[in-house]
Amino acid sequence: MDSPSCRHVAVFGSTGSIGRNALEVIRGTGGRFAVAALSAHANLELLARQALEFRPRWIVATDAEAGRAFPWPAELRDRVRFGPDGLDRTAAEAEIDIVVAAIVGSAGLSSTLAAIDAGKRIALANKETLVVAGGLAIERARASGAEIVPVDSEHSAVFQAIRAGRPSEVARVLLTASGGPFRDWPSERIARATPAEALAHPNWSMGRKITVDSATMMNKALEVIEARWLFDLPAERLEVVVHRQSIVHSMVEFVDGSVVAQLGPPDMRLPILYALAFPERLAGPTLRLDITKPFTLDFEPPDPERFPALALGAEVARRGGTTGAVLNAANEVAVERFLEGSLPFGRIAAGCRAVLDRHDYESDPSLETLLRLDRWARKEMQQWNRS
Ligand code: NAD
Ligand code: MG
Repeated sequence: MDSPSCRHVAVFGSTGSIGRNALEVIRGTGGRFAVAALSAHANLELLARQALEFRPRWIVATDAEAGRAFPWPAELRDRVRFGPDGLDRTAAEAEIDIVVAAIVGSAGLSSTLAAIDAGKRIALANKETLVVAGGLAIERARASGAEIVPVDSEHSAVFQAIRAGRPSEVARVLLTASGGPFRDWPSERIARATPAEALAHPNWSMGRKITVDSATMMNKALEVIEARWLFDLPAERLEVVVHRQSIVHSMVEFVDGSVVAQLGPPDMRLPILYALAFPERLAGPTLRLDITKPFTLDFEPPDPERFPALALGAEVARRGGTTGAVLNAANEVAVERFLEGSLPFGRIAAGCRAVLDRHDYESDPSLETLLRLDRWARKEMQQWNRS
C-alpha cells in the first residue's frame, strides 16, 4: 500500500531525457511518489521496461499503429492505451495527482491542456505548450485550479527566486543562457554548422530538438515567451544574459535593485524534484555544487547578430496572439529540416522570421485558430527555401 503522503504521477514522454530523469527522481525519493501512468511515442521497448519496473495503472503508446503492433508482455497488455486520445483521457484520470509534461514539441499541447482542465499539478517541461497557447493555458489553469510548476531550469529558478518579494515588486527577470556550442563562433562558421556540431551541447545532455534550439538560441527565445506567460510579465521586463557555466539558473531583480538568484549544478533532476515536491523540498538523487574547488561565474550580454532567434522571442513575447504558435511550428519543422540536411543551420531563424511575417495575425485566437496556424506554419516551413 502507498503511504498517505505518496503522490501519483503520470510521466508523459517517459522515454525522453526529461522523462528518464523524472523516473530517476521518483526512484530516488523513497516512496514519496508512485508512477500511475507512462507514455511514449517511439522506443516502446524502453517504455515496456519502465512499465515492468514501475507497474503503472496506464501505459500509453501515442503512436497508435506502432503501439498496436508491439509485442507487449502479457502482464502489461490490459493496461495499454493508444494514440493521443488515450493520452488525453489518461491525463484526466482521478487517481493522478501530478502530470509530468515531458513530450517534445506541440505534440505535448493537447495532453497538457487536458491535465490543466482536470485541475492537476503540472510539472511542465513542455515549454511549447506555453509558447503555442500560453494565454489559453494560463486562463484554463486559473479556471480549473491546476497548478503549473515549471521544470525548465531557468523558470524553476525564477519560480523560486520570485518568492523573495511580491509580484508588484519585480523589476526584471534575467534568464540565463549557456550560449550553446556556438557561443564563441563567428557568424560565417555558425551559418555552416553541421548537425553533429549542433548536437554537441557543452553543459546539458538533452533531446535532439532542444539541443538544436540551444545552438540557435531559439531555446532561449522560447523560454522568454514561456516566462512571459508563467510569470505574467511584459516582454520589457524579461532579459537574457549569457552565463556559460549554467550554475546560476536565472535571477529576479526587485524594484529596490536587489537581485535574487537560484544556483545549482546543471542537473535537470533538481527542477524536476522541485516541481514534484513543491511547496516542500525533499532530499533526492541530485548533484551538489562542489564549493571546495575554485569556480568562476561569468555573465555577458547575448549577441543578437550572431543569434537572430533571440529577437523572434522578444517579438513574440510582446505581440502574443497567434505569433507563438506560428514561431513554434516553423521552428519545429526548421529543426527537422536542418537535421535531415535540407536547411542550413544559418537559415533556421530566417525561415522562422519569413513564416511569422507571412501569417494572418490575430490578437485573441481560439485554440482551433492556433492549431490551424500550427498546421499552416509547418507547411510553409516545409516549402521555404527549397530549390
Ligand atoms: P526527448 O526527445 O528526449 O523526449 C521526448 C519524449 O516525447 C519521448 O518520450 C518521446 O517518445 C515523446 N514524443 C515524441 N514525439 C511525440 C509525439 N508526437 N507524441 C507523443 N509523444 C511524443 O525530449 P526532452 O529533451 O526530454 O524534452 C522534452 C520537453 O522538455 C521539451 O519540451 C523540452 O523543451 C523540455 N525541456 C527539456 C530539457 C532537457 O534537459 N532535456 C530541459 C528543459 C526543458
Ligand atoms: Mg531551459
